[in-house]
Parts: sequence; C-alpha cells; structure tokens
Amino acid sequence: MHYYGTAQVNAKGNLEIGGVDTMDLAAEHGTPLYVYDVALIRERARGFKETFERLGVAAQVAYASKAFSSIAMVQLAEEEGLSLDVVSAGELYTALAAEFPVERIHFHGNNKSEEELIMALDHNIGCIVVDNFSELALLEEICEIRRQKVNILLRVTPGIEAHTHDYILTGQEDSKFGFDLQNGQAEEALESSLRSEWLQVLGLHCHIGSQIFETTGFLLAAKKIIDKLAEFHDKFGYVSKVLNLGGGFGIRYTEEDQPLPAASYVDAIVTEVKDQLGQTDLPMPEIWIEPGRSLVGDAGLTLYKVGSEKVVPNLRKYLAIDGGMSDNIRPALYDAKYEAVLANRPLDQAEETVAIAGKCCESGDMLIWDLPLPKAERGDVLAVFCTGAYGYSMSNNYNRIPRPAVVFVENGISHLVVKRESIEDLLRLDLQLQ
Ligand SMILES: *Cc1c(COP(=O)(O)O)cnc(C)c1O
Repeated sequence: MHYYGTAQVNAKGNLEIGGVDTMDLAAEHGTPLYVYDVALIRERARGFKETFERLGVAAQVAYASKAFSSIAMVQLAEEEGLSLDVVSAGELYTALAAEFPVERIHFHGNNKSEEELIMALDHNIGCIVVDNFSELALLEEICEIRRQKVNILLRVTPGIEAHTHDYILTGQEDSKFGFDLQNGQAEEALESSLRSEWLQVLGLHCHIGSQIFETTGFLLAAKKIIDKLAEFHDKFGYVSKVLNLGGGFGIRYTEEDQPLPAASYVDAIVTEVKDQLGQTDLPMPEIWIEPGRSLVGDAGLTLYKVGSEKVVPNLRKYLAIDGGMSDNIRPALYDAKYEAVLANRPLDQAEETVAIAGKCCESGDMLIWDLPLPKAERGDVLAVFCTGAYGYSMSNNYNRIPRPAVVFVENGISHLVVKRESIEDLLRLDLQLQ
C-alpha cells in the first residue's frame, strides 16, 4: 500500500495521519469524515514556491480553491504565501471571510454575473481573468460607470488540450473557455482592452487541462502564447507583465499514476519561457500557475464506516459504506479510481476483492470496483486515500444525506474545520406548503 504524507500505521496497528489515530477521529467526529494532512499541503505548496525562488523567477502560485474551499483552507493558503483563484461569489465570499489578502485573489469563470463582477470590484481584488467578449464588454461598462480601473488577464485557448497521458493539438479549440489564440479572437480582445481607459491587461492566461503527467502540454502552450505576445508587441507595442499557465498538475491516485514533482513542471516551464523569450525582445514576465488538485488532492482522505454487504454468487461481493456519491461524486462522474485500506487494521492481509458501494439510490454510486481487503465487517472503518481535491467541494445532499465534517490534522493535533451537516440543517431552506 502506498501511504501519503504523514499517513502511517501506528503502534496500535491503526492508520494514523498527522500524528492522529484515524480511529480516534472517526470516534470523535463520526463518519464519513474528510481528513486533511496539513503538513503535506504545506509541503506541496512549498514545492512549487521554492522552485520559482530557486530559479529566481518572480511568480505567483495561486491555489485553485474550487478543489477544496473553506475558511481554514483559505487561511492555510495564506499562511503558505499562495495566491487564490476563485470562480464564484461563494468562493470569493469564503476568501473574504478568511481575510485573504484581496490583491492576491484572481477571479475566474466563463459566466461571471454582473453582481459577481461588482463584488470583485467592491473588494479591489487582484485581477479578473476575462473569459469572453461579452464579459469584456460588461466589465468595461461597469468600470466606466464606477470610474474604476481593474487589472485583468485575458484567458486564451492556445489550441492544446492536455489529458492525463497525452495532449492534443487542435487548430481551433472547441471549448467553452477563453479567447481563441489562433483565429484572431485573442488579438481582438487585447486590442479592445488596450483601448479601454479602465481595463489594464496584466497578461494572458491559459489552463490546458487537469491531471496532467507530462510537461509537454505546458511547454507547447507557453511557446504558442509567447509567439503571439511577440506579434502583439510588434503590432501594439504591448508588453505582458504576467504569463499565467494555469493548473492541472497530476497526482497519484493509484499505482497507475506517476506524477512528476512540482519542481519538474516549474523547471521545465521556466526553461521554456526563457528560451522562447530569448528569441524576442520581450522581458521576462511574472509566471503564475494555479495548482488545485496537486496542492490538496493526496493530502485528503475519507473515513467511512462499513455497513451492509451483498454477495452475488460467483461474481462479486459488495460492501456498502455510510457515504458515497453524496460526498465523492468523482467515481460516478469521471470513473475516478481510488485505493483504500481498513483504518483499524491496515496491515492485515487481503483475503478477497470487494466492490465498495455507496448508500445512494443509484447503481452508479460505486466508490471502488475492485478493492483487495481483509474480510471486513460492519463497524470496520474504511480509509479512502487521495480524496482531498474535488471531493468535499463537489459534495451534495442527494438522498438528503448531510455533508460530512472536515478535520485538519498536524503534529498530533486535530482541528475541526468544517462541521458535519445535521439533518436539521437539511431543512434550513425549506418552507411549509402554507
Ligand atoms: C480547475 C482549474 C485549475 C486547477 O486545476 P487542477 O487540475 O486542480 O490543478 C486552475 N486554473 C483554472 C482556470 C481552472 O479552471
């Protein structure tokens, strides 16, 4: 079994993380429970930041907070000197409640509402990543009325789609996000922003995919953007202060995944940007990146209690746990794969292969199809690894199942950071028929 960060088996033979016994956590907070290894989040953040520092490159590492947004998580990002990406009023509100420095907040999204743009302007956040012409016009109009300047990045689609193990070059990318770099849209957006009295274009942004294990896609994107920046310089005298290459750095979920360390991505990106810029008259911009999954993904695990079982003779044994697609929709949504152990006896030999089923009324509510386990019984605690990104943040109340609690653990101390929803909470928005 692969253990992440501070996870290990303790003297009692239980799984511990952050120096805290997971069985104690399950007893104290109940299950399902999200547990985050704070030391590992810090280590991941430093992996990115320190590489830029070592290379002497001005940079911002922005945590894509959609991966897991909560007040404590945003505060941790602040402690580690990260910047913060938000994509909605809700994520922005969370950042403000956490008193995150507004100048390091970047607002993303392909359909920011007028209210969201105004909220961003009211709080003077660091920049707005403009996604399309309609948003550009709306933002210009709002800024004109308010007579307020705002920093923007233009999100471009460079015609590179990176997937887990490969990348695809597309002439014109069929994506809902961004200004196309090839067909003149990006140029038109820049030209129109440069004419504006209110919009200050810090630079260009792209985000080419997620769970990417190679550097090639990032390097191609950087090259394409820098080629365009050279053109924009010739045409408009435009000099970009920022080059934002997005997130998408892959993590290990199962043994099939072989991620690169943060330093490899950053090294490769910086080398490529310097090489490409060497062929132009352009100065080195700040490099911004936006890791989400790779900061928190493998630092989170979920504890569940084992309940019912069902055997389909000669075919499969289903073990049901007390959560499922309501707290982790990724297997149902993306066919995501996970590894897991019994937290109360992780060293016991596996005796059978079981399928871990959720408790929701959907046949697709399966967490893991083939998991080797010792014979598990009702009351055993299952620890599913690497649920830290897009787990809690995509959780929902399907079947009116309350959302789990979230705890942070570090140096032997656990700290509840998101309370468990109660069944009363589920009714807080409900009104009587009359
Ligand atoms: C989702 C997203 C990210 C983070 O992606 P990860 O795969 O979690 O690293 C970064 N930037 C943008 C614009 C995104 O939409």
